[in-house]
Amino acid sequence: MEIAVIGTGYVGLVAGTCFAEMGSNITCVDINEEKITKLLNGKIPIYEPGLEELVRNNVENGRLKFTTNFQKAVEEARVIFIAVGTPSADDGAADLSAVFGVASSIGSFANGPKLIVDKSTVPVGTAAQVKKLAQQKTEHKISVCSNPEFLKEGAAIEDFLRPDRVVIGAESQEDFEIMDELYKPFTRNGAPIIHMDPLSAEMTKYASNAMLATRISFMNEIARICDAAGADVEMVRKGVGTDSRIGQPFLYSGIGYGGSCFPKDVKAIMHTAKEYGYQFKILDAVEDVNAKMKSMMLEKMSAIFGEDWSRLQVTIWGLAFKPRTDDMREAPAITLCKGLTEKGAKVHVCDPEAVNNAREVIGSDVDYFEDQYKALEGSDVLILATEWNEYRNPDYDKIASLMKRKLILDGRNALSRKRLIEHNFERYGVGVPPLKPE
Ligand code: NAD
Repeated sequence: MEIAVIGTGYVGLVAGTCFAEMGSNITCVDINEEKITKLLNGKIPIYEPGLEELVRNNVENGRLKFTTNFQKAVEEARVIFIAVGTPSADDGAADLSAVFGVASSIGSFANGPKLIVDKSTVPVGTAAQVKKLAQQKTEHKISVCSNPEFLKEGAAIEDFLRPDRVVIGAESQEDFEIMDELYKPFTRNGAPIIHMDPLSAEMTKYASNAMLATRISFMNEIARICDAAGADVEMVRKGVGTDSRIGQPFLYSGIGYGGSCFPKDVKAIMHTAKEYGYQFKILDAVEDVNAKMKSMMLEKMSAIFGEDWSRLQVTIWGLAFKPRTDDMREAPAITLCKGLTEKGAKVHVCDPEAVNNAREVIGSDVDYFEDQYKALEGSDVLILATEWNEYRNPDYDKIASLMKRKLILDGRNALSRKRLIEHNFERYGVGVPPLKPE
């Protein structure tokens, strides 16, 4: 079966490549010509572990193609995935202009029956709107199903190839069968393909992300109280997470969630709730807590240095919103850089993959370094903002020899307490007792 994937970003490129890997014929479409040219030249426009090799193999075996020719891709395809962005509009709603534009164009170019699959994260009720927009442009039968995506950047290939579950919201048995056929190879490990109506599928995606964001903010509030009371949130996490009703994942405290999904999806479901006359109170708090967590390390700076940081040099390790991605959207490091430079600090930053994207959002007020140790020379403070593996297990002797003061603000509680004590570091984390050398 010929499949088109419209939107070749983190989700579209990974989904298209993985479908090709499992034997489908995929055409990935994007309006961004630069992106498609790069892909046609064998270059991957994003950083995602394992993606480059998988793309290369599937391009070579002829199952994966890239194009800006929307019309041809739609004409050739029976199934068309929409994987374009749905960013936050000013009022917090999901901006669906790209999704609706694509839906309408699919209708215009349809030359036979088409199944449109909403893979973009879209509010409850969008599938029906997509269907209407496409159907009013064509005589051919248009059906739409919702197939939300749950992959995590940094582990996207693994997540897509071996999902916990596949959620499909469709209106007819025929559409369920087409989707089941497509996803069968991904669920050989026994993961369920869950059938439901499109409204519930759309809601499932937002409920999942809102729940995960809530867990993070909940643990961050616990961390705040641990900080004040002298308890250790890392111990609390272990004690809480081993309860089988709660589970271990997503209980890590840190300087806030970011990325392209949680912030905008939390906003969007709050907006949807409001449209239905309901106030989603928990999520108000989740957002508020998260915004405050992003500046927690700035609060610690003020507690240590007062308000004049003009003589300080601060190094930040990690810029991406999480490890193993180059995605800078809503990254806590943006708040950190802004807060530090506003108070006059000289800021050195580094990240294994996100420096190019960071330059675009943070700009030239900070100095960018490739080498994590070069970035440390002469610094008064090291802030760990993203827990890449190379930052988790650093050379502590080297850090000590390069810094002016052996002071670390560990925004992810990622550094070994034992090693920090052995090397006589002063360390403040998130909800963990401070280490203060004698
Ligand atoms: P992205 O910004 O990386 O990619 C979107 C792509 O769509 C871009 O390459 C853009 O050029 C292209 N595009 C926009 N309008 C187009 C059009 N009219 N025709 C063709 N291409 C067009 O976004 P993303 O991170 O891949 O997210 C896509 C959707 O998937 C969003 O709704 C997001 O919420 C959802 N999602 C993202 C993730 C994630 O981890 N990034 C996970 C699950 C779901």
